[in-house]
Amino acid sequence: MNFSDSEIVASILKNEGYEVNKNPEKSDLILINTCSIREKAEETVRKRLQLFNKYKKNNSNLKIGILGCMAERLKDKLLNEEKIVDLVAGPDSYRDLPKLLNTINDNKKAINTILSLEETYDNIIPLRLNSNGINAYISIMRGCDNMCSFCVVPFTRGRERSRNPYTIINEAKDLFKKGYKEVTLLGQNVDSYKWSKSINNKKKLEKSSISDEIISFSNLLEMVAKINPDLRIRFSTSHPKDITNDVLKIIKKYENVCNYIHLPAQSGNSRILKMMNRTYDRPWYLNKIKNIKEVLGDDCGISSDFITGFCSETENEHEDTLSLMDEVIYDYSYMFYYSERPGTMAQRKYNDDISLEIKKRRLSEIIEKQNKHSLDRNNLSIGNRYKVLIEGNSKKSLNYLKGRTSENKVVIFPKKTSLDKNYVDVEIKSCNSATLFGEICSK
Ligand code: SAH
Ligand code: SF4
Repeated sequence: MNFSDSEIVASILKNEGYEVNKNPEKSDLILINTCSIREKAEETVRKRLQLFNKYKKNNSNLKIGILGCMAERLKDKLLNEEKIVDLVAGPDSYRDLPKLLNTINDNKKAINTILSLEETYDNIIPLRLNSNGINAYISIMRGCDNMCSFCVVPFTRGRERSRNPYTIINEAKDLFKKGYKEVTLLGQNVDSYKWSKSINNKKKLEKSSISDEIISFSNLLEMVAKINPDLRIRFSTSHPKDITNDVLKIIKKYENVCNYIHLPAQSGNSRILKMMNRTYDRPWYLNKIKNIKEVLGDDCGISSDFITGFCSETENEHEDTLSLMDEVIYDYSYMFYYSERPGTMAQRKYNDDISLEIKKRRLSEIIEKQNKHSLDRNNLSIGNRYKVLIEGNSKKSLNYLKGRTSENKVVIFPKKTSLDKNYVDVEIKSCNSATLFGEICSK
């Protein structure tokens, strides 16, 4: 999401005559797009600022700005605490950047952290950064209305709103025309995408009695799928409570909508899930997984997010997370230990009473389990053939290519001469827990 936002910022600044420079030491403006999701993310930014302070000593013209969630969370505190910061801009204020930059160029501090109910940057064509020319992100909505008790996002990114689908389609068509072969539709909770011509804010839309046509996520997915069969579509993130059968049907119907779902469980224990305010319990989640496998088959790639050591989590409740993993057998998971965030419901209502040592031990246990399951899942691919989208050279050797299957598995295979295709059929010969290794099929 931040990566996609940085591309929007780069586009706005390009119109102002700025150019992207990969060398911070030689730049006159450094903007840091920040994340507040865990304390560690914020600490990283603080450390980075110390480094940039050195550059500022060598270049008196250098200005430094903080964008994103940390800007939104800390507001003018950031200007007071970090003297080298000139500009603070929250996630909904990027259109105001030209004005804010004028202010700092007059040697004054500048700040805008106003959140919007409607802003989606829908008419801004992102400037693609570090692009491989194959994969691109398209932001389809902003904010989140879910209020999971551990999560800072609803406070830093504001209310949920959906972007005009016609501008999404135009962006995807334009990318395809430029040679891109895969787009990932991004939102904190893509399944609750809901847009009408007159209202794009979800809360307002739910309360209104308009008779406009309403576009849902499955409608949007189908619209993007129809652009071209050679354009692959992924999306993230799905919330277990919102993913619909309609979405599963679209995945099944269109070969170019990837057979992969990221469905964060967070915990395998119903009491913890209730405290997390996730609005589903363990049986409900497992039923959703069963439903996905029934519609899309066992091949469908499934991944999750987990948090260990949430407030009051007992050893048995942690075991429930491990046993949920055993029941589902995920292809992949993003795993974290709980980090209390100021202002969240969990911080206000519960005690962060699990020691760091226990949080980390539980985390290492789920990581170990996931690695084993990733290997088990990858082993099932050996001998199979997959349509692979080539993303470029393998990092380790120019004689090998790297690509991805529809199920989101990375595949490495030897290059064949005079290959000018984007998609190839690859037979899998071996694997480890992170990667499949194969060979291009001649027929
Ligand atoms: N909207 C997405 C996730 C956004 S944040 C969703 O609902 O799935 C990405 C992940 O960070 C979350 O799924 C969660 O596992 C983790 N996370 C969020 N807040 C956290 C916290 N306070 N401590 C540790 N991990 C957290
Ligand atoms: Fe945070 Fe929950 Fe919203 Fe995801 S759905 S961004 S975890 S509040």
